[in-house]
Amino acid sequence: MELWFTERQTPALGITCKVLQTLHRELTPFQEIAVIDTEQYGRMLILDGMVQLTIGDEFTYHEMLAHVPLHTHPDPRNILVIGGGDGGTAREVLRHPQVERVTLVEIDRRVVEVSKEFLPEVSCAFDDPRLEVRFEDGVAYLQQKRDEYDVILVDSPEPIGQAGRLFSGDFYRSIREALRSDGLFSAQTESPFVNQELISRVYHEISSIFPITRMYLAPVPTYPSGIWSFTIGSKCYDPMLPPRESGLTEQLRYYNSGVHQAAFQLPNFVQQFILQGGKLCEKR
Ligand code: SAM
Repeated sequence: MELWFTERQTPALGITCKVLQTLHRELTPFQEIAVIDTEQYGRMLILDGMVQLTIGDEFTYHEMLAHVPLHTHPDPRNILVIGGGDGGTAREVLRHPQVERVTLVEIDRRVVEVSKEFLPEVSCAFDDPRLEVRFEDGVAYLQQKRDEYDVILVDSPEPIGQAGRLFSGDFYRSIREALRSDGLFSAQTESPFVNQELISRVYHEISSIFPITRMYLAPVPTYPSGIWSFTIGSKCYDPMLPPRESGLTEQLRYYNSGVHQAAFQLPNFVQQFILQGGKLCEKR
């Protein structure tokens, strides 16, 4: 008998993959966590029925969330990751030798524990002594911070339920306060095909708070529509300028300086809806 998993990405669209094995399933106080092994993309982490990552395609998402801002800042030393309990974003940040400290604030301890057990390729940086993991609410954590971080990365789930706070103007204002005077942040901001209203709202919120706001795109085959947006708010450095030379490209599978610069070239329909605040086909 064949088993198939479907994520209903919108009320009218889904992604389906053939399941070799269900490895784990539990209900925590925050969400349902599942890990399945899929024939196409290998192991998959699912929270509340929504794909968070697969071993086959996680590199595009994690490399682009981390390396675009870390190659924009000339000397990133103190980094904060909000969410990201699977460890993939921290793994990429810790490739930068000048990074001295990474604080990862994850609300659900079990995401980290399950990732360590079932997703070793993604969670492999948790033993790095530069990484501190705190199990608390990232929104509340940020509210106590002032002038501390060079780069903040928001590796949040979909803006559903309590996670909606990670896409709010108040949250972006807390990020501004927590960043140093030349700091910048990048956040995953969902699909330009499926979440246009959200992206447009977030872009305008961030533009009203940060002097430089830029959006960039990358493919993530297992996320809704397969193409993903990230939005940067920056106090000083423009991510559209040629990126810093880090010498890391050899180790990476997706990111390089050409990809960095090309990712900010937005197709016409995306430019139109972020600039005009349009609502074309939001269904999620
Ligand atoms: N790459 C993923 C995506 O876009 O689908 C997101 C990955 S990561 C697993 C998201 C994490 O954010 C989850 O583990 C979740 O527990 C955590 N999270 C949700 N709300 C949070 C909050 N308020 N503070 C800190 N972490 C939070």
